[in-house]
Amino acid sequence: MSYDIACRLHAARDLRVEPLADPDADSAAGAALIRIARGGICGSDLHYYQDGGFGPVRVREPIILGHEAAGIVEAAPEGSGLAPGQLVALSPSRPCGTCEYCRAGLERHCLSMRFNGSAMRLPHEDGFFRSRLYHPVAQCIPVAAGAGASDAAGAEPLAVCLHALGRAPDLAGRRVLVTGAGPIGAICTALARLRGATEIVVTDVQDFTLDIARRMGADRSVNVAAEPDGLADYTGGKGRIDVVLECSANPHAIAQAITVTRPQGTIVQIGVGGILPLPLNLIVGKELHLVGTHRFDAEFGEAVRMIGAGEIDLSPMVTQVLPAAEAQRAFDLAGDRARSVKVQLDFRA
Ligand SMILES: [Zn+2]
Repeated sequence: MSYDIACRLHAARDLRVEPLADPDADSAAGAALIRIARGGICGSDLHYYQDGGFGPVRVREPIILGHEAAGIVEAAPEGSGLAPGQLVALSPSRPCGTCEYCRAGLERHCLSMRFNGSAMRLPHEDGFFRSRLYHPVAQCIPVAAGAGASDAAGAEPLAVCLHALGRAPDLAGRRVLVTGAGPIGAICTALARLRGATEIVVTDVQDFTLDIARRMGADRSVNVAAEPDGLADYTGGKGRIDVVLECSANPHAIAQAITVTRPQGTIVQIGVGGILPLPLNLIVGKELHLVGTHRFDAEFGEAVRMIGAGEIDLSPMVTQVLPAAEAQRAFDLAGDRARSVKVQLDFRA
């Protein structure tokens, strides 16, 4: 019998790798038993780990982190369409299906959303960073044979980016600025390339992440810490950028993005932050579209399809893979933007 583990956060900086009991069979109705293969560490996991939460969302009881993962079906109900041995990507999003937003087809705004690895509600919703779990059949999306668990674990952030691009105009023939070259910025870069953007400029303050962004399809990268005027080529007229995919939530980056966006251009705000000052005069005067984007709905299935079909290669952004037993070291590494973009946990190591 193998030794099953869970990566459970007890408080800020108190991440423990603990033995995992057999998953509760009571939760097995309509669910498949999944053995996790890979899990990706996301920015929100890092906020929980580094700060004990973000904004009003705080870790108030121990929680198993993780909402990006892929695993192998160990057992599935008859007629579920899932077979033992099959690779599946796990969607962490479980809307209630009955509230006003679910009925309106806006499940991502569900009033009773259960999202794996989220401390939003009490009791907290445990996440995917554990060896085995029961997961609703409808949230286990089979991955085509060509893709591996590392690729499949990228479905969740890819779904986030697909939804974000759905909030932007068609990128074909457009000049696109991506601010922030973390995993979301890197995937947005790859998608902008696929969607036919003519020029993709990526900014960050780390050469390491910018190098990954170039491998994901950026034409030009600018380290705005080393080169504060690096976007000068795009300030002509009232701005030369058509669409900004803002992935940093950094006030300076946002102000700079607003400056270089052309009249009636669009800024999709993907990075999340709190209250910050904005140059309203430019937003108003240039008639900019400043739009938010939140998680995903049907895009998860599309993300898994794209990964399985080999339409997008997320592998350049997976900079390190560590055994899940070394979760704390993996989280520390994931928090070091000078050395990592996406760090994955390997639950089979
Ligand atoms: Zn709902």
